[in-house]
Amino acid sequence: MIIIKTRTKEDHFDLDGIESSEIFQISQGEGVSFQDEVEYHLRIQKTTKELIVMGSVKTVVSYECARCLKAFKEEIKVDNLLYSYALDQLGEQLDLTPLVREEFLLRLPIMPVCSEECRGLCPQCGKNLNDGPCGCHEKEKSSPFDVLDDFPIE
Ligand SMILES: [Zn+2]
Ligand SMILES: [Zn+2]
Repeated sequence: MIIIKTRTKEDHFDLDGIESSEIFQISQGEGVSFQDEVEYHLRIQKTTKELIVMGSVKTVVSYECARCLKAFKEEIKVDNLLYSYALDQLGEQLDLTPLVREEFLLRLPIMPVCSEECRGLCPQCGKNLNDGPCGCHEKEKSSPFDVLDDFPIE
């Protein structure tokens, strides 16, 4: 849990740490999973009326490529966090976990791909086309349906 104590005497302080990604209980969508730690660096500033949180959070997300099904990892980093709270609305502590969770979810790709150039799998033989052509195209040419291309249409 990322907890900020709100009744401190200091008017500004840092809060750094590492948490297991499990604390976020992020539902693992298709092809997405959170296995790595979450690192956070926060700076908290208090005025007479407000508590302001600034900082950055990052984690590494494991994906399965939507095109070729290869597993790959990518970092998600959010480094412009900025939240402010009216001090008199806050309890003794403030749990930032749900907000940080939301930040990560917002940045997940809808279709994770290992690279923009990923060629995916051959729909016929299933070979990973990033490793080279599979030869299905050659066979297609000699399929009996090709004759239809030459059939005169009137
Ligand atoms: Zn891929
Ligand atoms: Zn093929």
